[in-house]
Amino acid sequence: MADMAERITDIGPPKYDDMWPQIVKDNYGKWLYHDILEPGVMVHVSETGAKLFTVRCPGTRLMTTMMVEELCKIADAHCGGFFRFTTRNNIEFMVDEQSKVEGLKKALAALKLPIGGTGACVTNIVHTQGWVHCHTPAIDASGVVKAVMDDLFEYFGSHKLPAHVRISLACCLNMCGAVHCSDIAILGVHRKPPVIEHSHLDKMCEIPTTIAACPTAAIKPSKVDDFKSVVVNADRCMFCGNCYTMCPAMPLADADGDGIALWVGGKVSNTRSMPMFSKLAIPFIPNEPPRWPTTVKAIRNIVEVYAKDANKYERIGEWAERIGWERFFEKTGIEFSHHHIDDYRFAMTTWRHSTQFKFTK
Ligand code: SF4
Ligand code: SF4
Repeated sequence: MADMAERITDIGPPKYDDMWPQIVKDNYGKWLYHDILEPGVMVHVSETGAKLFTVRCPGTRLMTTMMVEELCKIADAHCGGFFRFTTRNNIEFMVDEQSKVEGLKKALAALKLPIGGTGACVTNIVHTQGWVHCHTPAIDASGVVKAVMDDLFEYFGSHKLPAHVRISLACCLNMCGAVHCSDIAILGVHRKPPVIEHSHLDKMCEIPTTIAACPTAAIKPSKVDDFKSVVVNADRCMFCGNCYTMCPAMPLADADGDGIALWVGGKVSNTRSMPMFSKLAIPFIPNEPPRWPTTVKAIRNIVEVYAKDANKYERIGEWAERIGWERFFEKTGIEFSHHHIDDYRFAMTTWRHSTQFKFTK
């Protein structure tokens, strides 16, 4: 019988350690600490005395094969053929001696790849698929991210913010991006129920499956103009797009209805304070392709007010908790409205979102 750890099929990703550089294999479980030497350059130190130097550059979620080939050439020339992507699509090149770092940095500069994305900075924005690929987006993903990151670029290769500022984008509330727990979250929102194309619905969709797909039970079967179809109770609809996933005859994209909600103050880290969910800051900004100027301006405003007002090491959520959310709205000049009042309290008090806990007798 095959060993449990042995792969016997070609399904799924390769085993995680198959593609490690030798120095990582040799020091597995032995790393003592890591340090950031300058923005974008880190060193990991092992108890064996080995040191691993990492240079980080921004990548993109959608990348051409030509670009990947260029990255491979740099990895072949400087890093023994290895490089890796972080979860935020940063690219990390690793060398085992400090003397190799300068040559690597020059090669990256020749490819016009900036170095940064570590520590108290705005690192690469993690995002979803947007108009390029998915069927339910309320906004584009790559386009918004490009516009926002172009504006905040000065914060990528520097450490001039109080702490990490992690920005994420999800192009609908199905949320394939980490918008529930990011310092600044850009969320695509629909505001109108699906349009029902009664003449095609019965030919394209299974009506029972479509009805079952709705989390709020807003859909019921109906005969419309002699077509077997469905109707949607608009008061119950939360514009999630699940029905459209099941039934292409129920599109809900709408030029006026769709746009961006900005959320702030989430974090995954357990450092200093518990992980936090993002909270609503701006309920709606219209879609403004190709450069989304209102969104870009609103995000810069939040970053700049935070940078000026927060204490060192304080994340956006920690800063807002310390000064009080009322002050957050005052200082950023963001209007507070009825949209900000959370009426879904049950989950907020019962979800466990931390590994921090205390034993009591
Ligand atoms: Fe598709 Fe929504 Fe995921 Fe965007 S967040 S990729 S629209 S499911
Ligand atoms: Fe139901 Fe969501 Fe479709 Fe609205 S968008 S009808 S809530 S599945």
